[in-house]
Formats: sequence, C-alpha cells, structure tokens
Amino acid sequence: MAKEILDKIRDTRPGFADAQAGTAETLRNQARQGCFKNAHRTFQQGIQCVQLNSVNTLYSIQDSVMIIHAPYGCSACASRGIINLDVKKHHIGDTSDISSHLMSTALGEKEVILGGEKRLEDTARQAIDRYHPKILFIVSSCASAIIGDDIDAVAERLQAEFPEQVFVPVHCEGFKSRNHATGYDLALSAIHNYIIKDAKPEKKKGLINLFATHSLSMKDQEEMKRLLKLIGLEVRILPYFATYEELLEIPAAEYNVSVCQIFGDEYMEFLHQKYGTPYTVSCMPIGIKSTDFWLRSIAKLCGKEKEAEEVIAKERAAVQEEIAVIRKKTEGLTACITAGTGRGLAAATIIEDYGIKLLCIHTPYYEESYVDAFERLEEHHGSEYIINVADMQPFEQINLLKKLKPDLFIGMANWASRLGIPTTHILDGKRPTFGYRGVLYLGRKLEDALDNNNFNRKLKDYTELPFRDEWYDEDAFKYIEFPEV
Ligand code: SF4
Repeated sequence: MAKEILDKIRDTRPGFADAQAGTAETLRNQARQGCFKNAHRTFQQGIQCVQLNSVNTLYSIQDSVMIIHAPYGCSACASRGIINLDVKKHHIGDTSDISSHLMSTALGEKEVILGGEKRLEDTARQAIDRYHPKILFIVSSCASAIIGDDIDAVAERLQAEFPEQVFVPVHCEGFKSRNHATGYDLALSAIHNYIIKDAKPEKKKGLINLFATHSLSMKDQEEMKRLLKLIGLEVRILPYFATYEELLEIPAAEYNVSVCQIFGDEYMEFLHQKYGTPYTVSCMPIGIKSTDFWLRSIAKLCGKEKEAEEVIAKERAAVQEEIAVIRKKTEGLTACITAGTGRGLAAATIIEDYGIKLLCIHTPYYEESYVDAFERLEEHHGSEYIINVADMQPFEQINLLKKLKPDLFIGMANWASRLGIPTTHILDGKRPTFGYRGVLYLGRKLEDALDNNNFNRKLKDYTELPFRDEWYDEDAFKYIEFPEV
C-alpha cells in the first residue's frame, strides 16, 4: 500500500544538534550566521529510545492493542503507560474497563536467530481472541529491525485474515534516530498511513485538532480547553484517548494547533500541504510569558485576537497577587533546569515569573527552529546562561551543578538532590501546571522545595556522589569534541 507520509527522521532538520554546549549568545550567533554544527560526544551515558515515544503517542487510543515486537526489556517503560492510563481514566471519572492494551512478543534467542514473524502473527491472533480490538498497532524494535522481520508484510497477511480489524505497523526501532521526538512523528504518520489513508472528509466547521503528548495531566488538558473555550474555541485533544472515528476526522478540522514546538509540527505541515488546514506551532503554555505566547498564536490563527487579549488580562490579574507573595521569597535566586526541549523552555519562563535567574539549561536538542525561543529567554535571563545540549548525560549535568551552585534545580533530581540543592520538577502527569493557574501551582512547588530542603541536605551528608572527585574538577564538556566554526 502506498504510504501517504514517508518515515522521516528529525536528525536532518536544519541546525539539528544533540551534542553541543555554550552560552545562549554563542549558540544563537552561530545559528544565525549559519555556522552552527553538531558536535560529537566521545563518551555518553544514555540516549532515549525512539520507540518509547511512538508507544507513548499511541497507547491510549481507544479499542486498540499495541503489540511491541521486541524482547521483554523494550516494554519495560511502556508498561508504565498502562498505569498512566488508569490514573487518567480515574481523573476523567471513567470507571469502565481499560479499552487499550499492551502486549509483547517477548523475542528470545530462538526468534532472533530464526526470525520472529510467526511469533508476531500468533500474538496478534491472541490479541484479537482476547480483546477483539478495532486497531492493532505493531511496533518494531531494535531487535526485530536488525533481524529483518517484515512487520509490513505481517500486517498485510493479518489484514487479509481479519478484515474487521485495522493493522498499523509502526517502524520506530530505537536506533532509527538520535532525536527521540522522531517517535512522535512516526506514530502520527502511521495513524495517517493506515487509518486515515487517502480519505478526504468534508471540513467540519468549528473542529480544531490540538495535538498533545502523553505526558500531560488531565488537569492540564482541561486547562487548555478552558482557556480556549474562553476565547470561543472548542478543541479536540489528540491522539489522547481518541476513538477510531475521531482519528478518521483529523483531516476534517478547520485548524490544527499543538501543545508545544516538538509535537505534531511535521504532521500539521503535512495536513496543511494535503488538506490546506492552517496551523500554528508555538510553545508549551507553562509560565505567564509562554501561556500568553501560546494563546496569542492560536487566537491569531483563528481570528480571536481581541478575545484573547481580554482573557489574558483577566487571567493574569487573577494570579498576580499570589505570585507577588511567593516572589518575595524567590526574587534574585538562581536555578538550573533539565527537561525536554518544550518543557525546559517553558520552565525557564516560569522561573522568570518568580524573579529567578537561569544559570544553565540542559536540553536534549537544539535546532534552528528553537533559536527564537531561546533568544526570548535572554530578555530576562541575559545572554550568558549555558545551554548544554544533552540527551540524558547526567555526568555533565552534575559536574555543572557542582560548579554553578544554583539555589534551585528543576528537573529529575536523582543526583542533583545529593548535592543538597533544593530540587523540584515541572513534569507532573497528575496535577495542573498549564496556564495562569498552573503558574500558582508551580510557584507553590518552588516555594515548598526552598522551604523544605532537609531531605536533600541529609542526602548530601549521608550519601556519596556518583563519580570520583576528580571528575568534578574536569571541564563538564571534556567529552564533547567541538567542530571548527
Ligand atoms: S527498541 Fe532498542 S533502544 Fe528501544 S528499548 Fe528496545 S533495545 Fe532499547
């Protein structure tokens, strides 16, 4: 079957880097002058798997089974998705049984030597027998791709045998790309190639697709819907908990918008080319500046600028007083941030709301299309903050933290907390972090981390840091080979 969208990887986007470091000004100047290049890490601790993001994008789709064609280990993180599903269903008051399921083909030595296609077909038959799903996602892995299992051919054979079901192969083996956000694109392309195909539904007035990642809490989804409703827009958040019928309607939307600059941008461009659907890519609505920017960009797209300005003024006014109270404690402090690109940039605007200065941001990727967003941070944080482009390199992170000695660390704090620094995070799959109300929730979290730092102080006193002392005297970027500029 001819694919509507061919698999693309994000590594080839202009100015892509997953290994770089420097001040905001240095990287910005290089990018603007067209001489920014990716560097090379001669040692790295880890890298996130592409497959995981494809799994995360698809696992909540209703009436589906996801078959992970892989050894058991590749499903370890995916199994967490099922817990998330339970939590999210609870939050929306849905007490029905889970209608999406994960299965693994559990490839072993025998399948790796002799091929795993038969195991995959048997697993699909079991899935249909047990759950009678409408959609079966077949997700590849490093092992199944290396041994050359043809998941497209398996899907075609199964499709002929089970015409009531829809089989969706997703080529998202972990090594496919150095940019794990590629996994999002591959998942959205697979939805289009195998479910929507070349359908051309009538445009539906008032239908707006909001493409969003799995990591959002239900509270954050509700907050986005609430803010957009205030300016007169109703959105359908996708592909979260989407039904088969809702997926079919994706091309019928009047507008496409997204939750951040990383998710759905490639797919929205495709929808624009094929169906003429206008779209906008902005940022994650965390922190006042980012929420303003997100809301204004959607309002501009849909002709609701006036309504947006009224909502912004009202919503801002409602939180100013409490922000000012918290700010008395936080003004003038310094912070380092580690997070995914969209959330990290947004985190840098939330600390701005509380008068905190950014010393360093660890972001998995840098590319030309993010330069403006990093530059906007310079208005408050100056141009000297360090950008460490690092997808999961905590050895660089802890070295920098020890040298920079921030008052606060925002991110996954497993090691940072052993330095005794107050730590917190903004990746909250259960509570509200988005919009103007989220600014207050996160402000209270920052305040709480600063007021209650005993646990981290005890960790500092009674645990050891993960590396020998010598490492902390070294240049944090010792293992990055920088290209000649
Ligand atoms: S698909 Fe590859 S990178 Fe991903 S978990 Fe499996 S082995 Fe690891």
